Amino acid sequence: MCSLPPNSSANGPKARTLACIPVLSSGILSTRAAVTYTMAVALSCEGLWKIYEMGDEKVQAVRGIDLEIISGEMVAIMGPSGCGKTTLLNILSGIDDPSAGQVMVAGKPLFGISDDERTDLRGKEMGFIFQKFHLLDVMNARENVEIPLLLLGLNPDEARTKSMLALEKVGLGDRSEHRPAELSGGQQQRVSIARAIVHNPSVILCDEPTGNLDSGTSEQVMDLLSDLNDAGSTLVIVTHDTEIAKRCSRVIKIFDGRITVEEE
Ligand code: ADP
Ligand code: MG
Repeated sequence: MCSLPPNSSANGPKARTLACIPVLSSGILSTRAAVTYTMAVALSCEGLWKIYEMGDEKVQAVRGIDLEIISGEMVAIMGPSGCGKTTLLNILSGIDDPSAGQVMVAGKPLFGISDDERTDLRGKEMGFIFQKFHLLDVMNARENVEIPLLLLGLNPDEARTKSMLALEKVGLGDRSEHRPAELSGGQQQRVSIARAIVHNPSVILCDEPTGNLDSGTSEQVMDLLSDLNDAGSTLVIVTHDTEIAKRCSRVIKIFDGRITVEEE
């Protein structure tokens, strides 16, 4: 879609392929077959830039980031305050527009499409977990979790059934009729996790999911995120929390809007 600022990298991520050569032997016959499995890319971005203009001042918050998240990965994005983590996550989420570059979600472009198409893509393929939960105060836990399903057009009965299953998965089946104000911080974050997983998205994006929680509660939330990943969910987690990073399959470090290190 957008043109690149000067000096930005035009090299995009390449699909990672896992080539494996199984040896098949049966009786006297031995066959070698070369099989190449291409792993599904859940989320990727290429040449991503974000430049905020404030009067004469320009802030280059994201400077040419290329990234590829494979389905089933749990990836931490870390870096000092102000390095561009939230800006990057907001663009990967389709909440904010990039100044240049593109994001692909489940093989489809997130930008350069109509607002309705983007809302549809985000609603189907993405789940979100925020530091401050962002639950609607006037709705109970079940109704909060139903929201993504109702936006996707499910009928109220289906939405209720799926929402209850998601709440049971996060251990809150018995709190479904409670409003956020009647729940602890950890319980509210678990409701927001249920809301993020209820529609079985391709990728779940989290911004400091334990940032507002005490250490004991953080650990419960981390256990839950790890369990989701073990069950196949793909997670991208912006965090300061080294305990979360330890549980991730990959840690991407950002400094001044650029990726500096990737650790497996
Ligand atoms: P982090 O999440 O790593 O702390 P941010 O992505 O919030 O970093 O911010 C990266 C840089 O972009 C900072 O210099 C910040 O001041 C600036 N920034 C973030 N949002 C805006 C905005 N809406 N307008 C102008 N500058 C912004
Ligand atoms: Mg931030």
